[in-house]
Amino acid sequence: MAGALDGQVAVVTGASRGIGRACAIELAKHGAAVVINYTSNEEAANSCKAEIEAAGGKAIVVQANVGNPDEARALIKAAEEQCGKVDILINNAGVNRDRTIQRMSDAEWNEVIQTDLSSIFYTTQAALGGMRERNYGRIVNMSSVIGQMGNLGQANYSAAKAGMIAFTKTAAKELARFGITVNAVCPGFIETDMVAALSDEIKTSLIANIPVGRFGTAEEVAAAVRFLVTEGGFFTGAQLSLNGGQYM
Ligand code: NAP
Repeated sequence: MAGALDGQVAVVTGASRGIGRACAIELAKHGAAVVINYTSNEEAANSCKAEIEAAGGKAIVVQANVGNPDEARALIKAAEEQCGKVDILINNAGVNRDRTIQRMSDAEWNEVIQTDLSSIFYTTQAALGGMRERNYGRIVNMSSVIGQMGNLGQANYSAAKAGMIAFTKTAAKELARFGITVNAVCPGFIETDMVAALSDEIKTSLIANIPVGRFGTAEEVAAAVRFLVTEGGFFTGAQLSLNGGQYM
């Protein structure tokens, strides 16, 4: 596989399934060696690796719960030890634990904040030393339309996703002088396991509010991520929205 990312190493968190998996495959297609992170689904992570290798790409699999600071830092260390460096960091891993504010437990609040938001502080801090030394880095944070507009039953998730946008802007300002760009992608509803878990009734009502009349695909999000990585020299601190017109 020859491409714009030949010789570069990309860490994609939560790359066993859904959007992260599509990002890993897309970056590998453009020449990056990919570190596929997952937390519990080893079989899915290995199948992503096999798909990349079958197409002639390079990939390794590293298990880590990125919501745990030690494991997140160990993920970046493993990538640097096994692949030599980290040029590209896609902070994609995320979960949702939906409940109204009145009913939400502390555990549901904390799990989403740790997994979706705190994780990007841990991985970014761990990766930026090497990026600064090489004066190059591309960081993309997987936020959400929900971080831009809020949503019933998603106080934890919307706060985490909005926090990712604010983190992105601060990191972009701090790191621009070291050749590191930091951007956020804000997808609308995308057909993955996360959305498959919703009832048909909710899916129909969601689609009624999406002007293009459908959910997006993981591949469409991966193309946006790849754009920010390969064309991203002047793009930094941006929120790239792709939501079928649901929010503008
Ligand atoms: P998904 O299909 O549920 O996949 C989630 C991925 O994250 C899996 O690879 C999972 O690994 C991994 N993961 C979960 N918790 C983790 C942890 N603590 N440490 C490491 N990896 C972990 O989700 P998705 O729909 O692709 O969503 C990916 C990202 O896009 C999330 O941040 C999500 O919030 C965001 N997003 C999704 C949508 C949407 O409509 N789907 C819209 C906007 C934004 P295992 O396989 O090991 O469980």
